[in-house]
Amino acid sequence: MYRKTMAGLLAAGVAFSFNGVMAEGPVQAPNAQSSSAFDNKIIKKISSDNMYNTVAKLSQQPREAGTDGELVGAQYIKSQFEKYGYETELQPFPFYETVRNNASGALQVNGQVFTPYVFSGSYSAEVSGQVIHVGKALAGTVSDEVKGKIALIERGDITFVEKIQHVQDKGAIGVIMYNSSGSSNAFGQAAYGQNIPAVAITRAEGLALVDKLKTEPLTSTIKVTGSGYVEKTSYNVIAKLKPHKNKDNGQVVMVGAHHDSVHGGPGANDDASGVSAVLELARVMANMPTDTELRFVTFGAEEKGLLGSYHYASTISDKEADRIVAHFQMDMIGSKDAGGDNPAGGLIMYTIDGKKNLVTDLAAAAGARTAAAEVIPYGQLGRSDHQPFHELGIPAALFIHSPVEPWYHTPADTIDKIDKNKLQEAAEIVGASVYQIARPDTPALEHARVAPGPVDYDFEDRPVQ
Ligand SMILES: [Zn+2]
Repeated sequence: MYRKTMAGLLAAGVAFSFNGVMAEGPVQAPNAQSSSAFDNKIIKKISSDNMYNTVAKLSQQPREAGTDGELVGAQYIKSQFEKYGYETELQPFPFYETVRNNASGALQVNGQVFTPYVFSGSYSAEVSGQVIHVGKALAGTVSDEVKGKIALIERGDITFVEKIQHVQDKGAIGVIMYNSSGSSNAFGQAAYGQNIPAVAITRAEGLALVDKLKTEPLTSTIKVTGSGYVEKTSYNVIAKLKPHKNKDNGQVVMVGAHHDSVHGGPGANDDASGVSAVLELARVMANMPTDTELRFVTFGAEEKGLLGSYHYASTISDKEADRIVAHFQMDMIGSKDAGGDNPAGGLIMYTIDGKKNLVTDLAAAAGARTAAAEVIPYGQLGRSDHQPFHELGIPAALFIHSPVEPWYHTPADTIDKIDKNKLQEAAEIVGASVYQIARPDTPALEHARVAPGPVDYDFEDRPVQ
C-alpha cells in the first residue's frame, strides 16, 4: 500500500522528504483500482437532468446581449446562485452597437448626385467642404491640408477605422471612400467616437473624382442621418464562495460560460449548455469544504466580441489576478451533433497559445477517470471568454465539442439538439478538476499530495469549424 502511495506521489511530481515517516501528515492517495474515488464527492452529485432543465429554461427565448431576453436569463442565473448560497452580483456594462440607415446617405460633388453606402456606425451629420484626395490615408501620410475639408480616400492596406482616424486627427470634416477593386460600394465601418460622417462609393466613381481633382477644385456635401452608435447594457453574473477562514489559502479558481446568444438564436448549446454546467457545479460545490475561493461567472456580450469577459477582466487588479490560479471556460458542451467521430464526443480543450497549462493538465487527467473515460486532447483557439484571462497571465482553457454542429449560430440551436451525456461528461471533467484545486487537502497545487497523477495528452490541430 505504501509503495503504491509513493508511486502516486512521485507520478504527481510531488517533492517531499522521506525517512520512514511522511514529512507532512497522513496521505490518502487515490487507489489505482478506483481512481474516481478521488472525485466522487463531486461527480456523483452532478445531475445532467438539472443541467438539461437549465438549458430548456434559458433557451425559451433568444438572449442577445442588450435585450430583455438577456436580462431575464441573467436574473434567472443570479437567482439560482443566490439559492445555492453564493455572494452574487449582477454586473452591468455598456457596449455600443452600430445602427446604419443606408437610405439616409446623400452625397453631392460639384452638383453630381451619388447614391453612396453609409458606413456602418457612421456619425450622423451634414457637412460641406472642399474635397482633397489623400490616397489610402496610411499612417503619417495625411497632410495638414485636410483640415476643414472632406477626405477622398482609397480603400485598402489598413482598416476603415484607421483611415478615418488618420484624417479626423488632421481635422477632416467628412470621408468619401472609394473601393479598391470591383464595382461595389457596399463596405465600411466607423468606430464609436469617430465624429465625422463617412460614406463609400465605387472604384470607378472614386477614380473619376481623383481625375477631376487634377483640373478643378471639387466641393462636396455629405449628409448622413439615423446612423451611428447606440449605447446598450449587458450583464455579467458573478457568484463567489469564500473558503472557511482558517483554511483560506488566498487562491481563487474560476469557472465561466457565456449566457448571451446570437440575435434570434435560442442558444441552447451556445451557450446555455455552458451556463447549465456552471450552475450545476456551483450547486454541488456550495456545501463542500474548500481552501480556495470558488468564483463562477456567466458573461454577457460574448457574441459581440468577448465584451463581458473583457469588462470583467478590466475590473480585476493585478494583485487579484495573481490570486486566480485557473479559469475553466465552457462554451458549447452539449450538442448531439458536434464533435464528429472524435473520442469523448469531440470534447477538446483549447488554449490561446496552444500550450498546455494547469487547466488542461488537470482536465486531461480528469477525463480519464470520469464518465468520459478518455484523456482529453488540447488544441489552439481563442474565440471565447478564456481569452482575457489568458491575457492576464491566468492559466485558462475553453472546453468545447469540436468541430461544432451545423446549427451553430442559427435559430435551430434548440433544446432538442442537446445530449445529456455530453453535458454530464464535460461537467464531471471540469468539476473534478476544480475540486482538485479547491479541496482542502490540496493546500497548494504544487504540494497536492493526494492528487491523482498526471497523464500524457496530445495536441490536436483540430479546426472548430
Ligand atoms: Zn457563439
